[in-house]
Amino acid sequence: MSDLSENLERLEAAIAQACRGAGRPRAEVELMAVSKTYPAATVAEAAALGLALFGENRVQEFAGKAAELDPLRQCAANSICVHLIGHLQSNKAMRAVELFDGIDSVDSLRLAERLNEAAGKCAKRLPVLVEVKLSFEESKAGLDPDSVEAAQLLERLPDLAHLDPRGLMTIAPFGVPEAETRACFRSLRAWRDRWAAAYPRLSLDVLSMGMSGDFALAIEEGATRIRVGTALFGARSPYTGPA
Ligand SMILES: *Cc1c(COP(=O)(O)O)cnc(C)c1O
Repeated sequence: MSDLSENLERLEAAIAQACRGAGRPRAEVELMAVSKTYPAATVAEAAALGLALFGENRVQEFAGKAAELDPLRQCAANSICVHLIGHLQSNKAMRAVELFDGIDSVDSLRLAERLNEAAGKCAKRLPVLVEVKLSFEESKAGLDPDSVEAAQLLERLPDLAHLDPRGLMTIAPFGVPEAETRACFRSLRAWRDRWAAAYPRLSLDVLSMGMSGDFALAIEEGATRIRVGTALFGARSPYTGPA
């Protein structure tokens, strides 16, 4: 057995255990394989093991792998989807729409409008998640959920006809006590419930939260999608390519 298939088996067992502990069916939690820094061949190997949803965090990096993965994204039977989960600058919206099957890191109205325009030109309806910042760390990406801009984005999203809003994404703070991580996940779910009530035209079913170190907590707190890199592919070397 390859390292990857062993890792996947171990991960699946841990996900199943977390679901059982939370009294949730396994089918409620989608596994996104975060393949950033790993080559297209690794993505293909993961796809052969049945993984279907991949996360990448840089437009440029994925552009270098996309051609090689094209055949895997066309064939209906085992096709894979690749979403962008890293910060996107508005000026790269068109390239991102061409490359990705979904953008899970929408963090401004301006970006949403650019993506909508680009998706229109590509005759696509693009699945998107709104990235919410729930940590005080300066480095964290996402939209402050209490801000006027968040309200404006949520108000406007249903009218952006080429976007298909599906839910929310957050990244928990690193290296904090478990209680703080849990509070972050709980807070994302609370915002989702509040916004789903306040903006009934929006569908916000997806809660993308939890990574290698904290996915079990996220599942307990209602994650419908977990984003796992290291636990599947191993430790990453630092990224050195273009931004
Ligand atoms: C890299 C990354 C992950 C995966 O992190 P691991 O700890 O390796 O599982 C998840 N989400 C985002 C947004 C990431 O950038």
